[in-house]
Amino acid sequence: MAMKDAQPGTIHLKDYEAPRYLIDKTTLKVEIEQDKAKVYATLNMRRNPESDYSDNCSGNPLDSSLDSSLVLSGQQLSLEHIAINGASLTTEQYVVTEEELTIHQVPDQFELVTEVIIYPKQNTSLEGLYKSRTMYCTQCEAEGFRRITYYLDRPDVMSEFTTTIIADQSECPVLLANGNPIGSGKVGDGRHWATWHDPFRKPAYLFAMVAGDLSVVEDQFTTCSGRIVDIRLYVEPKDKDKCGHAIQSLKHAMTWDEQVYGREYDLDLFMIVAVDDFNMGAMENKGLNIFNTSCVLAHPETTTDAGFQRVEAVVAHEYFHNWSGNRVTCRDWFQLSLKEGFTVFRDAEFSADMGSRTVKRVEDINLLRTVQFAEDAGPTAHPVQPASYMEISNFYTVTIYEKGAEVVRMIHTLLGPELFRQGSDLYFSRHDGQAVTIEDFVAAMAEVSGRDFSQFMNWYRQAGTPRLSVRSEYDEKAQQYRLHFKQSCEVTKLEEGKQQQGKQKNPYQIPVKVGLVTEQGDLAFSASDEKNPREKSQVIEITEPEQTVVFEGIETCPVPSLLRGFSAPVKLDYPYSREELALLMSHDSDGVNRWDASQQLAIQLMQSLMEDYRASKPLVMDDCLSQAYAKILSESADDRAMQALVLTLPSELLLAEISDEIDVEAIHQVRRFLCGQLGSILSDQWRDTYHANISTGSYIHNASEVAQRSLKNLALRYLANAKTEDSLALVQSQFDEADNMTDRLAALSTLVNDPRPEAAVLAMQALESFFNDWHHEPLVLNQWFQVQAACSLPGGLSRVKALMEHSTFDLHNPNKVRSVIGVFCNSNPVNFHCDGGEGYRFLADQVLALDKLNPQIAARLLTPLTRWRRFSEQKQALMKGELVRIMSEPKLSSDTYEIVSKSL
Ligand SMILES: [Zn+2]
Repeated sequence: MAMKDAQPGTIHLKDYEAPRYLIDKTTLKVEIEQDKAKVYATLNMRRNPESDYSDNCSGNPLDSSLDSSLVLSGQQLSLEHIAINGASLTTEQYVVTEEELTIHQVPDQFELVTEVIIYPKQNTSLEGLYKSRTMYCTQCEAEGFRRITYYLDRPDVMSEFTTTIIADQSECPVLLANGNPIGSGKVGDGRHWATWHDPFRKPAYLFAMVAGDLSVVEDQFTTCSGRIVDIRLYVEPKDKDKCGHAIQSLKHAMTWDEQVYGREYDLDLFMIVAVDDFNMGAMENKGLNIFNTSCVLAHPETTTDAGFQRVEAVVAHEYFHNWSGNRVTCRDWFQLSLKEGFTVFRDAEFSADMGSRTVKRVEDINLLRTVQFAEDAGPTAHPVQPASYMEISNFYTVTIYEKGAEVVRMIHTLLGPELFRQGSDLYFSRHDGQAVTIEDFVAAMAEVSGRDFSQFMNWYRQAGTPRLSVRSEYDEKAQQYRLHFKQSCEVTKLEEGKQQQGKQKNPYQIPVKVGLVTEQGDLAFSASDEKNPREKSQVIEITEPEQTVVFEGIETCPVPSLLRGFSAPVKLDYPYSREELALLMSHDSDGVNRWDASQQLAIQLMQSLMEDYRASKPLVMDDCLSQAYAKILSESADDRAMQALVLTLPSELLLAEISDEIDVEAIHQVRRFLCGQLGSILSDQWRDTYHANISTGSYIHNASEVAQRSLKNLALRYLANAKTEDSLALVQSQFDEADNMTDRLAALSTLVNDPRPEAAVLAMQALESFFNDWHHEPLVLNQWFQVQAACSLPGGLSRVKALMEHSTFDLHNPNKVRSVIGVFCNSNPVNFHCDGGEGYRFLADQVLALDKLNPQIAARLLTPLTRWRRFSEQKQALMKGELVRIMSEPKLSSDTYEIVSKSL
């Protein structure tokens, strides 16, 4: 395992060995005192019959000497007492290091008792047991349990847990752990205790406990078999009015998982606790989910539409883990995507069913194309099933989660919904209660479908984004249409030795959903190598480096609609003309591809404007995009969600990702120019759209109202970008009169980014009144920080430095760090990359400060600097210089060390 002061070691998948010992029962007693906590652990252990080491007659004398020793993980624990089968051990019988406790000899079956002291209030890493505001809570995934007690802290060691918590009754009236409550009482001195028992065996990463002064909001759910499950949501008393949406979302998720996957909840109690200081979004601990407040609390006055959707998605995601993650868990951390990829796919389908399927899909595609494709092209690229890691915390990435979900989605596409369901049923029934691998999951899918997945496994084992080039040919006489496919995925210089560089990876199995579109709409067709009936959409499987598909009986030359629904996570290359894209924008039956055509059209335009900008030519607007936009705006308003998507220009981040060398300034100026032009040319239509979409009633959170607000606020931004005279008044009155956070924040953000001097005055006033109204609400304050950190007007770095001096900013709180430092460095490129490299120096300073407090957050913040190879030589030198400076820090955490060393 990683060492603290030396260079951290690398752990390889190929070195996996089954655990030598098992822990049948884990009995914990945690006594929380003023400045520390005492943890008593009783572990009923035995030799693992399936371990290679269990055979004493291996013949290797080294093996047999290793054989009877026991190595437990433990960090920052102070060992007070240790005994085996009731007999205390002497100091000659064991060794303690910063990372491990080794007992030289243990029997085949025994009871191990340890007593350790830990310091939750001083724990700023937010791993293990720590204090957040008024409560004690835990985060054990991936390797936090070793900060609570000495343990076999690996997911393939599953144990039955009984947990007793003892604490001061007035400070911590609520005491929670996994499973069901089985006893409680008083111990004198104003202290009390509670004992919880979890009947389901689980790995230590799913352990959780909470102690604090919490209010509870209760509800019930009746499962498909008629059992009643108590739902309890624990929050700080001030947040009791923000729980309704999470509870509703949970009940929807419980019903959905019964209907779509046949999965019923298994305990009598399901608890969620909201915590303000949390490294991740939320954690699926068995029966006791712990959530970042930002992913569970929601109220129209304090939460945006996006926030409401996030709560629904995250609540569902963690709930779905009860089967995909908890009942069937991962054998080792190389299998992380087994639970995350599958569960993200499940929650994405749930969100699609609850709201707009196309909007959800477009959001996910944007995330993949900007963040995941960038990761795949950078120094921290890794396969969905990585082959090695130094620090597992660094692998909670968009590749494991989002690309992992895309890979599961492709299996779903290849099998169809019925076979996929049979496959998931087989997987759950065969592996219930086990710790398994990605191969086990795919084997179940292969078994029910009779398909061969050996080539498909390249999606799990190879890093990088495949490129799919498509060319078309139409033979009018023969009425034949041909598509030539060519796939490639090069080994980059970051991945392999020099001799490998430029070589091709193994070809992928790529499901390409195709339609053929004309002015009259979709053509019905059948691809010649299939015996399918004529359909308007078909999934073609590309398996060769080059492959041609012939379509017969095609009477007019169509425009191909490729990768419908984004059927595979690849970079598509097809030489569409602007006219063809405009045709797809209005006639493609696939909503995702209608949106994508609008994006491609805008990208073509922006790329040619960027060339003009670099050549110091005046920027001139081509009217193809404004005409297409005008057409969309004039159409009937029955699908506002689709309108808002299609009328949104590609982000600066996406334009950066598809650039060979990223020119931040050119991207920013061109996008701003285009927003301004589209705003003024279509100002009458934007104004009409704005007024037509003002809601008459009070705030409701449903798909159609969300779509209406997003279209209205988009129109407002175009009007402000066009600097129309009336736009300031519109923004100001929306800010003053909004009854919900979505509209108020949209107005605030529009105002803050308006370069007109008269807007600056109004923005200052608006920020001040917003702060005065909401400074008591940490989650709203985060949004106040975000709006300012993302402001792209000049002077961003000094604004962000001022925000960090603000009395409400706290470097210990990950939400604040993400809202200020994270947003500035990731979502404000034009200021972060300002000349002179001051933004880079700022980020490196913050990473160094945070590395001492919270290494996970420090390592995650580093991402923008690791992308230095994509920029101009001058910027490269400045960014690299900061990475070298971080690397030269003597006591770097293994988290930060891994990211920096891989980047250099
Ligand atoms: Zn998850």
